[in-house]
Amino acid sequence: MDNSIPDKADPNFRNELAKQPGGESISACFMCRMCTATCPITKVNNKFNPSRIIRLALFGLKKEIFTSDFIWLCSNCYACQERCPQGVNIPELMSTLKNLAVKEGYAPPGTKAQMNFIKGEGRIYPIDEFDNKKRNKSGLPSLPTSCEVVKGLFSGEKDSERDP
Ligand code: SF4
Ligand code: SF4
Repeated sequence: MDNSIPDKADPNFRNELAKQPGGESISACFMCRMCTATCPITKVNNKFNPSRIIRLALFGLKKEIFTSDFIWLCSNCYACQERCPQGVNIPELMSTLKNLAVKEGYAPPGTKAQMNFIKGEGRIYPIDEFDNKKRNKSGLPSLPTSCEVVKGLFSGEKDSERDP
């Protein structure tokens, strides 16, 4: 008998989510799949299925959620929330799942790289002398290569290095 699902399931996960923004109404979901039928991302990538993510969350299969790419495909457009008959705040729930995935060390490599750029230079896309030369050539002033105000928000935090 395959007992992998009970081994992976965390029965407290739905309670944990219920305390987070967007998770308050998750238990009201009755799997009508209206969110999936509405989602513009599902229309271009049928592997992205918000109702499936909610079902996995209700079953407590958090590692399956955190290790998949799917939560990262949500664009937070709020289309699903407009039509959910149960008032589940799906976009905020997706953001909460992304935040929990980062906390648990499961951020995808591209997101980790962006986080480390922001922590290191205060910018997602670093500005270097080459960029400034191009700006100057177009009559634009040079920009500072790092943004100290943003870097200050992360003071005391280490780089995201943990791999799942
Ligand atoms: S639309 Fe709402 S109730 Fe229906 S599956 Fe999605 S979250 Fe659940
Ligand atoms: S908020 Fe996310 S899950 Fe909801 S419709 Fe938009 S892309 Fe799809």
